[in-house]
Amino acid sequence: MNFIETRGNDNIKPKEVTFSQAILSPSASFGGLYIPKELPTLELGDIEKLQKMSYKEIATFVLRDIFAVDIDATTLSEAINLYDKFDDNKNPAPVVKVKDNLFVSELYHGPTRAFKDIALQPFGYILSSLAQKAGDNYLILAATSGDTGPAALSTFKNKPNIQVGCLYPDGGTSDVQRLQMVTEDGSNLKVLGIKGNFDDAQNALKNLLANESFKEKLKSLNIKLSAANSVNFGRIIFQIVYHFWSYIELLNKNEIKLGEKIYLTVPSGNFGNALGAYYAKKMGLPIEKILITSNENNILTEWINEGKYDLNNKHLVMTNSPAMDILKSSNIERILFDKFGSQRTKELMDDLSNKNAFYMSEEEIRIIQEDFEATYCDDEYCKGTINKYLLDGYLMDPHTATCIKAYETLKLKDLKMVVYSTAEWTKFSPTVLNAVKNNTDKYHDIEALKEIETNYDAKIPSMINDVFSKEIKHTTIINKDDIEKEIIKFIS
Ligand SMILES: *Cc1c(COP(=O)(O)O)cnc(C)c1O
Repeated sequence: MNFIETRGNDNIKPKEVTFSQAILSPSASFGGLYIPKELPTLELGDIEKLQKMSYKEIATFVLRDIFAVDIDATTLSEAINLYDKFDDNKNPAPVVKVKDNLFVSELYHGPTRAFKDIALQPFGYILSSLAQKAGDNYLILAATSGDTGPAALSTFKNKPNIQVGCLYPDGGTSDVQRLQMVTEDGSNLKVLGIKGNFDDAQNALKNLLANESFKEKLKSLNIKLSAANSVNFGRIIFQIVYHFWSYIELLNKNEIKLGEKIYLTVPSGNFGNALGAYYAKKMGLPIEKILITSNENNILTEWINEGKYDLNNKHLVMTNSPAMDILKSSNIERILFDKFGSQRTKELMDDLSNKNAFYMSEEEIRIIQEDFEATYCDDEYCKGTINKYLLDGYLMDPHTATCIKAYETLKLKDLKMVVYSTAEWTKFSPTVLNAVKNNTDKYHDIEALKEIETNYDAKIPSMINDVFSKEIKHTTIINKDDIEKEIIKFIS
């Protein structure tokens, strides 16, 4: 299947590209994104067939049979076999019953303990093999608030034809997240701490990518640029698979009957996870609604409930769920395209860059609400939730906890709900300890991990324990003005 562009075509770029082209150079005309040209629909009978398949077989089916990606069979199967690195290679995304109608899909059982691994592990493998086959060298730059960075470093480490520059806000991540990055060795990796917050790191990166002298330099070194965040459809495609899997898990556990509708609840930032759910729904998975949760950075709540996306007078707030501390959410553009077409999408996106805001009509709001509902959760509610559910025997991280607000306030029908758990508690243990002790003391991750392990019989996986004793490989902390210089030094 070919891919087209969310903001229409500029008559310079090709009108359609293949999957591999879309992932190697993910930026489309007018600053838009690539989307599939059409989405096939599955009948209930097809979903019944999926029920007999393993996770890896479903992933293969989605990429090979549904999207017909132009990736050779060997590369595809090697990429999908990377789910062997997950805790249970037969079930990389287990669905756990918490109570009544509430289920949690645990997406964090990969090497870096956040859901980013589910897509980045196979995606990184595919990107590197494509680069190798074409004989091209790629630079991947990633600004991270703490989960994308470790997952990108883990997948690209020592991969031929790829170099990675990873920027994180110094002091803005948990100890575990920082250690996961700065202890990662591999001669093709550069990790830089930036003095500033995540927005500063992200903006500095955007400026760099638009900078002519930097582009010239890359050209002279014969290096191309790609992206590892969810603007890249290579990530989205793997994020469709686990929504099907959630449904299959409920079927296999006899919790639902084939065709029965369920709710999916997605803690959202860049909206990649939610977009995967939307595509699965559109392809015929029986989903009643996709419930979107945010933290106090609640721009997505306003977009879905009121149709406004207004960044004027919005300031990024630092919360206990930092992976969702984001105001510009890239993937809603793909929803706008799917609902309203490229002309309207370009109009709304131009408004966003020119006026810092876009507003949708009443009719457009209604159309968005056919698939989505939204709420947001502040840090107090979040910590209260972690505490309450831990007392009932389920330990969750702060991002997952925001979903419980949707379970408690948005569930209008008596249907089963799958909540997505996007990170393991071990990445955010100080917040979890604050929640259970109802205090605001500052803990080091290592203390909080040990105390929770001892008092709540919780398991710390070896990859988290090990990070505290690994040698530190990256010590550079720089001002954002020095990013260009450091990256050029690294790739030269
Ligand atoms: C990345 C991330 C999110 C947000 O996911 P999006 O696909 O960007 O909406 C939520 N929770 C955690 C823990 C994450 O790492």
